[in-house]
Amino acid sequence: MANLHFNNAFLRVLPGDPDGRNVVREVRGALWSEVMPTAVAAPRLLAYSPEMAATLGFDDEAVASAEFAEVFAGNRLLDGMRPYASNYGGHQFGQWAGQLGDGRAITLGTVIGSDGQDWELQLKGAGKTPYSRHADGRAVLRSSVREFLCSEAMHHLGIPTTRALSLVTTGEEVLRDMFYDGHPEMEPGAVVCRVAPSFLRFGHFELPSARSEVDLLRTLVDFAIGRHFPELKASPAEHRVGDWFAEVCRRTARLVAGWMRVGFVHGVLNTDNMSILGLTIDYGPYGWIDDYDPDFTPNTTDAQGRRYRFDWQPRVAYWNLTQLARALSPLFDDVAPLQAGLDAFAATYAEAERGNIAGKLGLSECRDNDLVLMADLRSWMQAAEADMTMVFRTLSDLPADALTVDAFDDVHYDAAKRVAAAEQLQAWLRRYRQRLADDPLDATTRRDRMRAVNPKYILRNWLAQRAIERAQQGDPSGVLELLDVMRHPYDDQPGREAFAGKRPEWARDRAGCSMLSCSS
Ligand code: AMP
Ligand code: MG
Repeated sequence: MANLHFNNAFLRVLPGDPDGRNVVREVRGALWSEVMPTAVAAPRLLAYSPEMAATLGFDDEAVASAEFAEVFAGNRLLDGMRPYASNYGGHQFGQWAGQLGDGRAITLGTVIGSDGQDWELQLKGAGKTPYSRHADGRAVLRSSVREFLCSEAMHHLGIPTTRALSLVTTGEEVLRDMFYDGHPEMEPGAVVCRVAPSFLRFGHFELPSARSEVDLLRTLVDFAIGRHFPELKASPAEHRVGDWFAEVCRRTARLVAGWMRVGFVHGVLNTDNMSILGLTIDYGPYGWIDDYDPDFTPNTTDAQGRRYRFDWQPRVAYWNLTQLARALSPLFDDVAPLQAGLDAFAATYAEAERGNIAGKLGLSECRDNDLVLMADLRSWMQAAEADMTMVFRTLSDLPADALTVDAFDDVHYDAAKRVAAAEQLQAWLRRYRQRLADDPLDATTRRDRMRAVNPKYILRNWLAQRAIERAQQGDPSGVLELLDVMRHPYDDQPGREAFAGKRPEWARDRAGCSMLSCSS
C-alpha cells in the first residue's frame, strides 16, 4: 500500500473527549471523540475514483489489493491513522437541533496528497459513534452509490465539493424504513470513503457557541483559519475573523450559484450540511432538475414546506450564514463585520448570477435587460415543461439562425404544454437572436463558452437509480459506466447520447428518481 503521511492536525491541536467509551452521549468542551470503525463481514470494492486515488498516491495495484477494501471498509488501519468522530450541532429545517455530530462518519486521518494539500479521509457508514443518537451508524448501498457518484460528478462539473475515493460493499444488511411509513426492509450496506481538505461545517461553530463555550469556539475559529485559509494570515489580527466570515460568505455564494447553473437541488440544506470551505457536502436526498420547475424538491421529508426547493437555495444559504454569524457573534464587540460578510454574500451571489446568465446565454456581459431575458426563458421552460439541461445545450450547439421552435421539439415532457407554449418560445427566440446580433462575441467563441458552462451530462436521478438497481443485484458495471460518463460532462460522448436524454416516463413519480427521503 502507498506510504501515506498522516498529519492529523485536528487531533493534535483541538481538544478531544477524555471519555474513550463508544456510547451515545452529550460531549461538552471537546470537538472530537476517538472511535474505531466497526468491522464488517465481507468488504468488496465496488468502485473507486481514479483521480482521487492518484492524488492520494494509490496506484492500480494498491487499489486492487484486499488491504484497500479492508481499510476503506473500516476493518483495518494503516500506520498513522487515528480514527475519530467530530462534534457538531445544527439547525435542521429552521429549528435548533442541539448536538448532532458524526453519527456514522469516522475520520481515519488527514494525509498530505501528491498535490501538497491536506486531504481528510472519512468513512461514511462505518458504525456507531458517541454521536449516533438512535441510529445504527450504517449506510445503505443506494445512498452510498448516490454519494459516491455525485461527489465525483460535481467535481468534474467544476463545482466545489467533497470528493469520494471508494465505494465498498460490506456483505451485511441494514434495516431501513425508506419512506418512514412503517415498512422497514433489509437492504445491502456499504461504506464510502469521502475526502476533503476538511469536513468542518457551520454546525461545528454553532454548537460551542450555543453552549457558551466561547474559548472552544475561538480555538476552533483560529484553527480553521490557520489551517484552511492561509491567505488570511496577512489580515490584521483584529479583522481576521470578520475577513474569514466574509470569505465563507463569498464561497457559499459562488457554490450556490454553481448549483443553480447546473440544476442541482441539495435537498437538506441544514446548517450541519454546510461546509465552511464552500464545498457541496452530505449528498442525501439531492436531485437534479429535469423539466424546469423552480419549486422542485426531491426530499419527501421537505414536501410540505418545500424549504429546500431549487429556487430557494440562495436564500436558504443566506439564512444559514446568518446562523453562522450569530454563532460567531460572541467573538465580536460590534456586529458590523458580520453584517458586512452577509452583504458580501448578496453582492457575490448577484455577480455570480450575472456570470451564469452571460455564460449560459453566450453573451459577452450580462446587461440589466438580460436578467429579464433569462427570467422569460425560465418562465417558458416552466410553462412548457422543457428539460433545463437540454434547452441550454440546444441553445449552445446551434447557430443563431437555426434557433427555431422546431429545434426544441425533443426537450419536452408534455405534448399539450409544448404546443400551448410554442408562441412564447417563438417570441423569446426572436428577442434572443436580436440580442445575439448586438453582442460582440463571434459565433465560435460563443459556442465554446456556452458548451463549457452548459453541461450535456448531469447525474439525473433516473440514471443513478438504474445503476443502483444493478449494483443491488451484484453488478457494478452501471456505476462504473456512469462514473466514466460524468468525468466529461461538457463533452459530446458519441455512443452515450442515452445518458443525455430526457427522464423516461417510468421515472416520473418513482421512488429514488423524483422522491427521496433522508432515510439512507
Ligand atoms: P443528515 O440528515 O444525513 O445530514 O444527518 C443528520 C445527523 O444524523 C448527523 O449527525 C448524522 O451523523 C446522523 N445520522 C444520519 N444517519 C445516521 C445513521 N444511520 N446512524 C447514525 N447517525 C446518523
Ligand atoms: Mg449531514
